[in-house]
Amino acid sequence: MNADLTRLIRLQQLETAADEARRTIADHPARTQALDARLQAARDAVADVKAKLAAASDKRRAEEKEVAGVQTRLAKYKDQLLEVKTNREYTAMLHEIETAQNDIRTREDRILEIMMESDELTAGVRKSEAELKTAEQEVAAGRAVLETEKAGLEAAIERTTAEREKLVSDIDRHVLAIFETTAKGRKGVAVAEARDGLCTICHVRLRPQVFNEVRKNESIIQCDSCRRILYFAGSAEASAPVSQL
Ligand SMILES: [Zn+2]
Repeated sequence: MNADLTRLIRLQQLETAADEARRTIADHPARTQALDARLQAARDAVADVKAKLAAASDKRRAEEKEVAGVQTRLAKYKDQLLEVKTNREYTAMLHEIETAQNDIRTREDRILEIMMESDELTAGVRKSEAELKTAEQEVAAGRAVLETEKAGLEAAIERTTAEREKLVSDIDRHVLAIFETTAKGRKGVAVAEARDGLCTICHVRLRPQVFNEVRKNESIIQCDSCRRILYFAGSAEASAPVSQL
């Protein structure tokens, strides 16, 4: 194979790998944000259920205070019942007593409901706290993965730099210019495999005489359509020459 073509194929591999590594690194802030959001959601869930539990406790205390007030009134009515003079006063006092007793019953029922609700909320606090703990562990693990990945990718990019520089200095200047111009116009991909008579990147069919030249891998040939530098790596019918249509 043409030595420059071999170098270009390797150069393209290095550049593609480095681009991919850089893109992955560039995605890291978004992935970190997603981890942060997950943690925040778990914290919010704990705060939310705790606030509900506190509100239920407040409601219960308020009802208990009301009950105590009504009970004081009820005791007073019962004392007054002994001192009433007329039947009418007696009936009216009984009515007051009954109303107060009903009020107490209603409020005690409500307190029971609140207590049951509080039990559920207490279980909810425990559950959301356990979920928060899991989220904290998973987010910490996720961050560690990202950091390790980033360090690995940066090291890989760093490692390829020397090889890349050596390749670039060895490639014919004219050939390198073709590579660089094409790479700039084609999102960094300047080398394409030709297979079964097609450019495998732009999928345009090559003229048979062009493909036959490419199959030899002896010279720098660009795709007529996308201008990428073509090489031949072999195919199922690698040994058979393409028929000249
Ligand atoms: Zn092409």
